[in-house]
Amino acid sequence: MGGSLKVARVAGIDLKVHWSFVLVPVLGALQWGGLGTRGALFGAVLMLLIFGFVALHELGHSLVARAFGIPVKDITLMPLGGIALLGKKPKTPGQELLIALAGPAVNVVLALGLGWVGVELFGVEALERAVQAARVEQPTEVTLWAMVITSNVALAVFNMIPALPMDGGRVLRAFLAWFLGFEKATKLAASLGRLLAVGLGVLGLVGGNPLLPIIAVFIFFAAGAEARDASVTRVLEGIRAADAVNPYAPRFQPATTLGEAMQALIFTPYSAFAVEHFGRLVGVVTREQVMAAVNEWGAHGYVAGVMERQVPTVDGREPLEAARQKMNEALSPFVAVLQDGLFLGLITEVELAQQAQWVDALKSGQPRRREARPVER
Ligand SMILES: [Zn+2]
Repeated sequence: MGGSLKVARVAGIDLKVHWSFVLVPVLGALQWGGLGTRGALFGAVLMLLIFGFVALHELGHSLVARAFGIPVKDITLMPLGGIALLGKKPKTPGQELLIALAGPAVNVVLALGLGWVGVELFGVEALERAVQAARVEQPTEVTLWAMVITSNVALAVFNMIPALPMDGGRVLRAFLAWFLGFEKATKLAASLGRLLAVGLGVLGLVGGNPLLPIIAVFIFFAAGAEARDASVTRVLEGIRAADAVNPYAPRFQPATTLGEAMQALIFTPYSAFAVEHFGRLVGVVTREQVMAAVNEWGAHGYVAGVMERQVPTVDGREPLEAARQKMNEALSPFVAVLQDGLFLGLITEVELAQQAQWVDALKSGQPRRREARPVER
């Protein structure tokens, strides 16, 4: 994610913090600021600890995903929570179920472990009293211990709400997918997500909590994105990668000059161009690479000097969804389609967008039949 800073590397996964994360200790300090400087300091420390638990929660998702062979790019912490960026989607509802459960499970284990140690150290009564007296009395180490236990319980409960994009929504979708199929299951779980968002929004406005409506808006749009993504997946599953290749997309040769390339890219929406030599793919050059090279060296260089030689590929017989997954996995704006050793062309965002347009056209669920109708005059 843009604007993020890498702060640690855990089990081979980068832990990043978005710049807006600086708000987190500030929000904690504001929440507890009524109890003076000590309260504000307590709030800031507590909030940072909670985000430590959020990071462990995301690590839970990540490690189970990796056990299923799904690459994990990084974990990013933001004020609204954490995101573990997975390189591809779970293959089966069973995998999705276990990956989704792993996050809240971490918080359940933490709550139980911290609760057990807390009871040993302070006793049940002291912890209970600390929860009741929190935000009224000066915070102590018992308050801190009680709050980290309750915040892990809260993290587990909130994330298990059965609505997308929450973990509970993924669990629900996995269950429903066994009976309804992936797309219908997603739509149902996403509708619950929108409902939850509206509920949270109203609750925040009525209760005067300014953070809830922000979370509600985030959940509302994320639920919509999940539903749309499921429809795109269905459409792209039904198209062979070979059939989506545009044979008229401009292609270059290694000896194409940057000036010629520049002219070609002005007149097309494409952001990546195949570089061919006697029908063989030798590399791919992107719009940005051409522009940067022209700026640096002028128009007389050759595309061969700036092109990428490592190009992700898919077989032409694979569905277009496989091409999209490959692009996500490789963080690449293009993938080359090969079939029986022949280079057919590139799939880029342009081809995906063209095919995904059908999602809107086919929204009624079935393609509208075009029937020959007698002309009325
Ligand atoms: Zn989670």
